[in-house]
Amino acid sequence: MKRKIGGKNLFKGPKGFIIVAIVFVIFALLATLDDISRGVKKVNYSTFLKMVERGQVKKVKISGQDVYGELKDDSKFETVIAYNPKNWDILKEHDVDFEVTNQSGGFSIWYLLSFLSFLATLGFIWYIFKQAKGGQSGSGGGNNVFSMGKSRHKLFMPTTIKENFDSVAGAAEAKEDLKDVVDFLKSPEKFKRLGAKITRGVLLIGEPGNGKTLLAKAVAGEANCPFFSISGSDFIEVFVGVGASRVRDLFAQARKNAPSIIFIDEIDAVGRTRGSGLGGGHDEREQTLNQLLTEMDGFQTTSESVIVLAATNRPDVLDKALLRPGRFDRRVHVPYPDLVSREQILNVHAKNVKIDMAVDLAKIARGTPGFSGADLANLINEAAINASKTNQKTVTVKDFEEASDKILLGKEIKTMVQTPQDLKITSYHESGHSLIRVMLPQEADPLHKVTIIPRGRALGVSHSLPERDKHTLSKKEMLASIAIALGGRAAEDLVFNKITTGAYSDFKVATDMARDMVCYYGMSDLGIAVYRQGDADFAYSQKTAEKIDEQVNKILDESYNRAKDILQQNRDKLDKLAEALLARETMFAGEVYELLGVEPRIEHKF
Ligand code: ADP
Ligand code: ZN
Repeated sequence: MKRKIGGKNLFKGPKGFIIVAIVFVIFALLATLDDISRGVKKVNYSTFLKMVERGQVKKVKISGQDVYGELKDDSKFETVIAYNPKNWDILKEHDVDFEVTNQSGGFSIWYLLSFLSFLATLGFIWYIFKQAKGGQSGSGGGNNVFSMGKSRHKLFMPTTIKENFDSVAGAAEAKEDLKDVVDFLKSPEKFKRLGAKITRGVLLIGEPGNGKTLLAKAVAGEANCPFFSISGSDFIEVFVGVGASRVRDLFAQARKNAPSIIFIDEIDAVGRTRGSGLGGGHDEREQTLNQLLTEMDGFQTTSESVIVLAATNRPDVLDKALLRPGRFDRRVHVPYPDLVSREQILNVHAKNVKIDMAVDLAKIARGTPGFSGADLANLINEAAINASKTNQKTVTVKDFEEASDKILLGKEIKTMVQTPQDLKITSYHESGHSLIRVMLPQEADPLHKVTIIPRGRALGVSHSLPERDKHTLSKKEMLASIAIALGGRAAEDLVFNKITTGAYSDFKVATDMARDMVCYYGMSDLGIAVYRQGDADFAYSQKTAEKIDEQVNKILDESYNRAKDILQQNRDKLDKLAEALLARETMFAGEVYELLGVEPRIEHKF
């Protein structure tokens, strides 16, 4: 069962009445102001007659029983007269210019409008009443879409939860960490009997798409218990107090269905450090957070087995109170998948897709460091879409390549036209990157492929294929990476004697790496001190800053010259590669090695 409770609505609850009242007052004021601004005076019938007799009235317009008139001093008035043609005689006697209009014409438009607005007002009032009733009906109902204090969570009953730990590929550590949560939910009595202190709140920490939601749901699947899911941002509403009552409602329902799991996605939306909001006005969020803390503390004294799992990628911004013992006192990291996990995730998602025999998921896993679980699922899906577009029977290597490029660099921009000269420069630029990679086999990851087909904002791409997920890079490896990053610009410089703006992102990559070497890894003349920017504990002086810049520049200069030297010494290879690339647009590593007559690396033979 999956039901969505509550609807987003501005005019909720008692506050709604205030709003309606304000609206009415505004309308009344506007109507009055309108009359005043038109200078229309409402007079009664006898006054009207007197005015006529005194000869003050210049002209009138009679529409049915309504009279709109103008006095000789140009002021306007309105009145209602008895329908009696005799009246007209008086007007004639006093030489009033009068006009009788067809009553129905004026009537239909004016009165239809006011009738409609009357209906609208009625409907509005009915609507508000209905809401107010919903808001008072307590947590029993849940089907009233107008209820305001009701939680906007989704509830999944155990029979509808298909996920279990097997659905979560890789993530071995996270699964291990969550095992006792499952045990507790399965047989809470066992734990209670032993008097064990049970963690009630677990913080799942990791970048989006790495399976935090999936894991949480898998815990529910494993424990065979109901799963209440809500996003932190769903708590926050326009009106103060709504979020807090939503929290109360959510926890009440979870307790009623215990043992159960509450999953709060993006908890940072409510859980940010209190008082940290910009410009104040964060009462609502703070009240919500306080309520959440109260509910969590309630677990200490109540016996229901409810576990709260919360996801975030910003544990650093969370209010410390949330992390205290008895609240979210456990952290489970859900990192980007490593090589082995990536292959497992690909395998899970490839299950229902017909994949060509030649496709090696292990190889794809190697080519996708930095992909999240969601990216990998998306990769399989995009590849399958590619294949079905061309009515292929199976999903081929090419489909995966295209899908991967698409995910990596955004949609292919077909409209981006390059002149032949642009293409030539791009070709040399990408060849420059690639050639340096090929010429530094010991320090650099092997080449994977190189292309001059523009993708996203990049004009061309030179891909490498990391052999393993490197957590540590040697100084040599970092220097090689910097030289490779600068190789594109070095090639342009060497061949065309000019530099284009296309090298900007390369330059940024190189600079960041050089800076990391100096500031974090102690790979410069400055030694092994850590120079962290924007961190009070590591604040460094202006003088140190200058020294850092000096070192960074030195690394960049040396690397740039090194890149240029390599290209100069291998100019024949550079020309050959650039020409071939211009013709073929995309070349895989094997083709590059063959063309250049370079022995491919052993590791590269797959
Ligand atoms: P998060 O909550 O961390 O943002 P999700 O749990 O919503 O990430 O993951 C999004 C999707 O990515 C999942 O529905 C699933 O298809 C895929 N995915 C992520 N991690 C894994 C994994 N470890 N195994 C299998 N699929 C995964
Ligand atoms: Zn480049």
